[in-house]
Order: sequence, then C-alpha cells, then structure tokens
Amino acid sequence: MASNWNSGINDRRIKEEICEIGRRVYAKGFAAANDGNISVRVGPNEVVCSPTMICKGFMKPEDICAVDLDGKQIGGTRKRTSEILLHLAIMRARPDVVACVHCHPPHATAFAVAREPIPQCILPEIEVFMGEVPIAPYETPGGQDFANTVLPFLKPGTNTIILANHGTISFGPTLEQAYWKTEILDAYCRILLLSKQLGGVTYLNEQKSRELLDLKKKLGFDDPRFHVEDCDLCGNGAYRDGYKEEMPQPCAFEPAPTYPGYLQKPTYASGAAPVGGGGADVDSLVKAITEQVLAALGK
Ligand SMILES: [Zn+2]
Repeated sequence: MASNWNSGINDRRIKEEICEIGRRVYAKGFAAANDGNISVRVGPNEVVCSPTMICKGFMKPEDICAVDLDGKQIGGTRKRTSEILLHLAIMRARPDVVACVHCHPPHATAFAVAREPIPQCILPEIEVFMGEVPIAPYETPGGQDFANTVLPFLKPGTNTIILANHGTISFGPTLEQAYWKTEILDAYCRILLLSKQLGGVTYLNEQKSRELLDLKKKLGFDDPRFHVEDCDLCGNGAYRDGYKEEMPQPCAFEPAPTYPGYLQKPTYASGAAPVGGGGADVDSLVKAITEQVLAALGK
C-alpha cells in the first residue's frame, strides 16, 4: 500500500497545489471569507489539509497541516479545519478517493437550501461527468455526526454530494479533478436557475439520455445508474435507499420524465425490434387502449 504513494506530509508540490485550488475556489466566489476546506491523501494514514480560520484565496504552503485518517493532527503549525472529519469519512469509505474539496458555491448551495434535487438528462456534460447529485441531510458542521451524513450516499461513481443548508463536497482521484466537479456543478446550477427565469428546462428524450450514459461507460466513468437495478434513467432514484429522512422532491423544476433505468430495457427497443415485431406491439397497444376506452364508456 505504502508504495502506492510517492509523496508525504512534507511534499511542497502538493501543498502548493492546495494553495492553487484554494485561490480558484476563492476567485470563483465558492467560499466567502474563511469558508471551505481542501484535503489530499498523501499516504496510507496521512492527509494534508487546509487549516481552520484561513481565507482559501491567500494560503501559503507553510499554512497547510496534516492529519491521520482519524483526524489527529500530525503535521503543520496551524490548527487543522474541524470539517476535515467530513473529508476523512469519505476517504475511509472510498479508497479510490485521494482529494476532497468542500465549499459553499452559491448556485449549488441555493439548491441545498431549497432542498431541490438537481435535475438530470438536461445537459450532456452533466450526465457524462457527474450524474445524480444526492443531498445529504443537514447536521451542525464540524463534528462526527456531520461527517457521517454523507456515508449513505457514497456509492461507486459518486463524486459530489450536496450538503443540505450548507454547501457541497466533491472528491476524486486528484485534487484538480475533485475541484472540477464543484465547478461543473455550480455552473450547471447557475444555468438551471437562469433557464427557470426563461420558462423552464427541456429534458432530453429517452434515447438521447441513454446515449449519454453509453458514452459515459465508453469513456470509463462510473455512475450509480450502472449498478442500481431499480432506478429511473433521469429520476434521481439511485440514492433512494440512502435517504432516511424524506427524499427531496422536485418543486421548482418539473419532474423528469420516467424512463426505464439503464439496466432495464429501453422503451424504444421494442419498437425497433426486427421486422414484424414493431407492428405486433402497435397492434396490441391499440387493442389495449380500445378495450380501456370501451370499458370507460361502459360498453
Ligand atoms: Zn462548510
């Protein structure tokens, strides 16, 4: 395991990268004042992270501290962020996660405050790079109870979680990739809010939605929809079992159309069956509808 790591808690390059991502987080307006925190796993039981009470836009490498996977400080002169427990909960549950970025990007946080699920099957990049973004329940920030709120949502392929009434956390195999997820999500949420002002969103049809997931698979990205049998293609259902409280329901946005899940047979597949198959399906559909109409008319 140790040989998987080519760095340690004194690696200056990684500390500089944390400062650089901090500058981007601050410049994008994702973290006001001292908000937000950043972490990178550098050894089997070593994580470097931003300290508490520091503006993410003005960190220096010597400000960066180090903790073990239980959150005990093992390096640095400044005190580690209390929200590191959230990052560590994710790293412990997901060995593939190397870096985490937590902040309060305004557009995504608006969804967190409204507890409005992020609609899917609208923008190609979101389907390919993100997928469903679960909303973890609210807990007072800082403690272990807060950190544990994300655990039910850590499915293979999950890379971003919205924290109700708080903000976001995104994670990945590199710090830059973890950060990109936050940037992609906030840009998407902004587009959604703008489109709402223009009258609302248009969902992609089933075939086009499925094509994006095929593409995602081809590119080697994971998605909970590739594993969960009983979720809709666009229906925000892959995390259904994670919600102990009520699952957030769309209120501001029209609910997505119900398409069969990725592991199920597409509805258009039966229509595209070999010669003769399609005709038979249409015939039986016409027959079924006719019977229902006659029944409704009391004949
Ligand atoms: Zn926070």
